[in-house]
Amino acid sequence: MRLVILGAPGAGKGTQAAILAQRLGIPAISMGNILRNAIKKGMPLGLSAKSYMDAGGLVPDDVVVGVIKDRLDHDDCVGGYILDGIPRTVVQAELMENIGIAVDVAIAITADDRIVEERLSGRRVCDECGATYHLEVSPTRVEGKCDKCGATLTLRPDDEPETVRRRLRLYHEETEQLFGFYEKSGRLKQVDGSHSIEEATAAIFSALGL
Ligand code: AMP
Repeated sequence: MRLVILGAPGAGKGTQAAILAQRLGIPAISMGNILRNAIKKGMPLGLSAKSYMDAGGLVPDDVVVGVIKDRLDHDDCVGGYILDGIPRTVVQAELMENIGIAVDVAIAITADDRIVEERLSGRRVCDECGATYHLEVSPTRVEGKCDKCGATLTLRPDDEPETVRRRLRLYHEETEQLFGFYEKSGRLKQVDGSHSIEEATAAIFSALGL
């Protein structure tokens, strides 16, 4: 199955993509993680993406589409994949279709801005191993330290309140247009992401008929 997960920042795309990947045995591919990894390693891609990301903007369409094309050429994607965070604009979706990147189903996880803003302000991430926590919903055993590797947790630069508002604005202006793009070809499934992780997972599996 070739899936894309759509949703506002903080709607739970990454969390649900990881759950689906494990249950379906196909890779979850997060464009945000690829870009953050490139920044961490000082790769040219990271250097060119960082300023857009820190400001809560979008990395240029041709750049991210080139990156996803390379990633999907890997052997682990032969049996399907779950895309998280790409496409984020209709232009990206069209560019992807033009080069043969197929999507069978688009799952849109919806949640009010107020809810996702609260989630993002409490989110803490481990720069070492990529684990994600929430100060209230999923706290670490030792405050400020990653349960998995012990590294110090940080607030993502783009989770600062003002940057979150810009990301949400861009989501409503650009990414939500993709609902119509997938709807008109009968590929859109919408699920409510405003409650628990388990409820969203159940809604996604039901929408997929699994
Ligand atoms: P995410 O981890 O999905 O929230 O992505 C973090 C940031 O990476 C976004 O705010 C963008 O700056 C950048 N980014 C991720 N995916 C894309 C994409 N498909 N197009 C453009 N920029 C992206």
